Amino acid sequence: MSADYQLRNRVAVITLNNPPVNGLGLETRTAAVAALQRAQADDAVQAIVITGAGTAFSGGADIREFNSPKALTEPTLHTLIRVVEASSKPVVAAIHSVCMGAGLELALGANYRVALPGAQIALPEVKLGLLPGAGGTQRLPRVLGLEPALDMIVSGTPVASEKLAGTLLFDDLLPAGSDVVEGAVAFAERVAAVRPLPRVRDNAIEQAGLDAFLEAARARVQAAAGPFPAPLACLEAVVASATMPFEEGLAYERDRFMALAETVESKALRHAFFAERAAAKVPDVPADTPVRPIASAAVVGAGTMGAGIAMNFANAGIPVTILDTEQAALDKGLATIRRNYESSVKKGKLGQDQFDRRIGLIRTTLAYEDIAAADIVVEAVFEDLAVKETVFRRLDAVMKPGAILATNTSTLDLNRIAAFTTRPQDVIGLHFFSPANVMKLLEIVRGAHTGKDVLATALALSKKLKKTGVVAGVCDGFIGNRMVEQYIRQAGFLLDEGALPHQVDRAAEAFGFAMGPFRMSDLAGNDIGWYIRKRRQVEMPDVKYSKTADLLCEQGRFGQKTGAGWYDYVAGERAPLPSPLVEDMITGHVAGLTIERRIVGDEEIVERLVYALVNEGAKILEEGIALRASDIDMVYLSGYGFPLHRGGPMFYADTVGLPAVLAAMEEFARGYHGDAWTPAPLLVRLAAEGRGFNT
Ligand code: NAD
Repeated sequence: MSADYQLRNRVAVITLNNPPVNGLGLETRTAAVAALQRAQADDAVQAIVITGAGTAFSGGADIREFNSPKALTEPTLHTLIRVVEASSKPVVAAIHSVCMGAGLELALGANYRVALPGAQIALPEVKLGLLPGAGGTQRLPRVLGLEPALDMIVSGTPVASEKLAGTLLFDDLLPAGSDVVEGAVAFAERVAAVRPLPRVRDNAIEQAGLDAFLEAARARVQAAAGPFPAPLACLEAVVASATMPFEEGLAYERDRFMALAETVESKALRHAFFAERAAAKVPDVPADTPVRPIASAAVVGAGTMGAGIAMNFANAGIPVTILDTEQAALDKGLATIRRNYESSVKKGKLGQDQFDRRIGLIRTTLAYEDIAAADIVVEAVFEDLAVKETVFRRLDAVMKPGAILATNTSTLDLNRIAAFTTRPQDVIGLHFFSPANVMKLLEIVRGAHTGKDVLATALALSKKLKKTGVVAGVCDGFIGNRMVEQYIRQAGFLLDEGALPHQVDRAAEAFGFAMGPFRMSDLAGNDIGWYIRKRRQVEMPDVKYSKTADLLCEQGRFGQKTGAGWYDYVAGERAPLPSPLVEDMITGHVAGLTIERRIVGDEEIVERLVYALVNEGAKILEEGIALRASDIDMVYLSGYGFPLHRGGPMFYADTVGLPAVLAAMEEFARGYHGDAWTPAPLLVRLAAEGRGFNT
């Protein structure tokens, strides 16, 4: 049963019961309609209360039904709301905790709404690239007025119920802590005989000043919407509430909803929504796997990453001790942390008390004994296997039994690091991204011997640290950096062939990347790639790169930190200025190659960059380094600035169609350094089968 029915004197109480948030899936809708009909048919019932069990009135539609016929199976949401609205007996919605999306639309179909303070009220459909499709855009303006309704619908942001007191949305705001059903039943008894029944659809919308308001709102919404069509569609649907008769407005809303649901942008957002949830699941690590308690942490290395990682623990309320070999390094690390927090305080993002609390949770030490009792230690020392060996042997000797030993290595072999200890089951990779206190992505690297409980603990910890945890297997670069290397290689070849850094970046940014490859390298430090290429040269001498990046580094142009990289920088500023010196260097270098420089089109630039990611992603998937294509998409959306409206590289390839992606690769394979374009067997197979990575 997904809607309970109970009689309280002359009032029927219908309780939606579909944990965790009483989503309005088909079964719940069916049960709710049946309960409403039962109440209609019972002469003893004079009024009806609808509420939700547990910790929600209703969180909204069941979005898993979206791509299935269930969403359109009767009773649909529209039908349920019509049944409520057509009731001959007054219906009172008893709102508490969470009332969002279709849940709020259902409540708006009722004759009356009573609420507890602190309930989260929202129409968040825009966040999935949609608009409220069950009357929300027509009814909310009729209770809040046009402007507040528009703000809520276009932003999707929840508003606390008490902030909406005094509007027509709520007929009564109950005292905090009171019993919502009791309050609603008492209210229902008071209004049981009142006729005609009030209906939101009959409310008028204020028309004065409408045109001027809409003109300003359109400009504002369009400017903020970026590449997403939903915000403007939300606005147009809200406009319809003021300019069309109610039923026409509903039909208009429905049409716009159906059209939005088919857009790539909405599909990409829904993909990302599910991808984030899927990433938390590992097939052979069931949800009931025990986790180890993490009440204290340590970080080894007080550099760029160590400082940021320590902040993550402090932000989550976990005391953390940073260890380094030199007091100067500790002082510098702590000063960086202080500066970061101070800047948040200045911006008003952090209160002074939070500042004090977080700083108070961070200690520093030079002695391993001071970190021995920590539940987890994250190593972030130099990227050098010999240094890591010293540290891990030491950690193995001092850390308490059961402590998790994590490394933040970007490229080194986790299994070799684990082998420096006598407890490889406790060793795991926690690959944070720079700046570690800001970036959402956390690659969780599972070694050959990593314990399931350690993996489960890392996944739970990622949530606690408010990160998007994605599990990766052991390989050079894991998911993100292994793919980005192919992307950066293509960016280099494009320079050899005739493009310039700012043209490549402009094309990538027009596609939607937060930053093109050269701006990204200038930010991360060109010396990092230089160091890796030198190592590769020894390990894999056949892998070819454009020489331009090495020439750049030989001039000491490491990027923003040295004031010069692929671009010039004015001291203290981050704006990249195209550098005539670098351009001369590129053309001078290329003159010595056998290749004829040509004009490279923006479309080719984007395809070369993105398909390089896709091809390597396919290999990663096939090798089992990533568990699913959507995990790869999550890595790129949360860690590499891949455009959200395109859903991640693998999802994007699916939308282009794998046969077309493959055909482009085959074309590139005939070009400059075409050997970089051996298509991944998985890609070839899926293309032949007419399938996609995510389908
Ligand atoms: P960093 O050079 O800024 O800091 C390294 C710190 O480790 C220094 O403070 C140094 O004094 C300390 N250290 C060195 N040897 C030590 C030892 N034996 N014991 C204790 N402390 C020691 O380096 P970083 O950029 O923070 O990188 C650290 C790790 O994080 C590397 O493995 C790197 O690959 C990885 N990583 C870096 C980034 C990045 O963008 N910088 C991103 C992800 C991962």
